[in-house]
Amino acid sequence: MVPVTAYTLMMVRLPGWLAATLPLCAQFDLVILGGRVLDPETNLDGVRNIGVTNGKIAAVTPRSITGKRTIDARGLAVAPGFIDLHSHGIDNASNEYQAHDGVTTALELELGVYDVQKYLDQRKGKALLNYGTTASHPATRMLAMKELAAKTAVWSGENDLQRGVKEQGRELPLRDEEEYSKMTFLLEQALKQGALGLGVMPAYTPGSSRNEIFRVYQLAARWKVPIFTHVRGWAEEGVQEAIANAAGTGAAVHVVHLNSSTRSAIPNMLELIAGARARGIDITTEAYPYTAGSTFLESALFEDGWQETLGIDYGDLQWQATGERLTKESFQRYRKQGGVVILHLMKPEWIRTAMSSPFVIIASDTMPYAKGAHPRGGGTFSKVLAEYVRETKAAPLMEAIRRMTLLPAQRLEAIAPAMKQKGRIRVGADADLTLFDPATVKDTGTYQTGPQFARGIPYVIVNGVPVVEDGKTAINVFPGRPVLGNYGRRLAPGRPGM
Ligand SMILES: [Zn+2]
Repeated sequence: MVPVTAYTLMMVRLPGWLAATLPLCAQFDLVILGGRVLDPETNLDGVRNIGVTNGKIAAVTPRSITGKRTIDARGLAVAPGFIDLHSHGIDNASNEYQAHDGVTTALELELGVYDVQKYLDQRKGKALLNYGTTASHPATRMLAMKELAAKTAVWSGENDLQRGVKEQGRELPLRDEEEYSKMTFLLEQALKQGALGLGVMPAYTPGSSRNEIFRVYQLAARWKVPIFTHVRGWAEEGVQEAIANAAGTGAAVHVVHLNSSTRSAIPNMLELIAGARARGIDITTEAYPYTAGSTFLESALFEDGWQETLGIDYGDLQWQATGERLTKESFQRYRKQGGVVILHLMKPEWIRTAMSSPFVIIASDTMPYAKGAHPRGGGTFSKVLAEYVRETKAAPLMEAIRRMTLLPAQRLEAIAPAMKQKGRIRVGADADLTLFDPATVKDTGTYQTGPQFARGIPYVIVNGVPVVEDGKTAINVFPGRPVLGNYGRRLAPGRPGM
């Protein structure tokens, strides 16, 4: 047996017709044979065999190859594993549904976690999918407030989502330079632990002033890390604030779920973002393919006036735990109690507009898995492939794959150079691969059932290890690895401070 590299070099000298007929006789860990390989970086769309060794792609070739394990991919598309920039499901219960939806990397970038080190320690060696997080602005600003610090000092990674939207501090502004510098210290500490940027959600922290948010952008610019933001308000003003801050500081910004954040303004917002990009602003955005959103009923989003702002009423809210539609009475009761609602608030044409845009990244906003949760946690990517690629042809297949893989990888490359090895199918890339049948792939969860395993995605491979095999979850494998920001290993730039 000859090592792959030496043998490949030797083969180069053979005439092409001869080389193509000879088998490549290296033995790979895993081979994926005869699939339609789709690589959005090179636009390769052709039948190839893929050899995987040590969790990396070691061959992409028309020649026959052999391995210790073989997957017959004939009739299937082979894409880079889907990279989800927006997942609040940071445990394996949620990861399993995401895996069946083709996701191989699920990142919590909108809210982030407060204690990045603890979160990374908790998931190490136990994660089904690749994982990573931002530093959480909502969490750190509350910890920086003198009167709230004692209450919130015990936060753990897993509770951040709920805590971040519940605590009273959301209404309070930062009061003085002492609080600002405490917040700065905590955000910088999280970056040094490997956070992938800053999660900034003024929609949930109405007490954070325009000035506070601007200073957070200044911090991001100084550290050269991206901001992931749920923008203020429900329409244009929040995106305009983000673009102004990005332009004024040089920070990169990613606007999460443009569909629910800007609703009927989506066509204008796409023009605004495209125009900003054309003028050199580093701004990206994402959407999920559903007309309903989901969040905590006790959050700031439901302060007085929400019906007028959103153009919906109590009956458009669905209580996750029971599936019931709300009334004025149950709204007040449940808001006091706290819990998740599904909001039926968008029109199909707004979603179609977002799904048709070549630069809108697909991201799920997966909620932590629960029975009756929003189905996007198990259906975002399969729904795009079924409804918007196959059925309505809103996006060509390669373009949709690019928006699920290469574009989210590129969003993170400046802060996490390891992402240059994801979102592509080429020799040397991470063997994160999703095999699906373009003719049958389909989401199956509904607003009644909650997340369900998607159909037509028989194999999902993370770092060379199948986590979905023959349509079933592989047992006892945890191949997920952390995606870390580069400050996890580098010194801070300049003098820290806001
Ligand atoms: Zn959000």
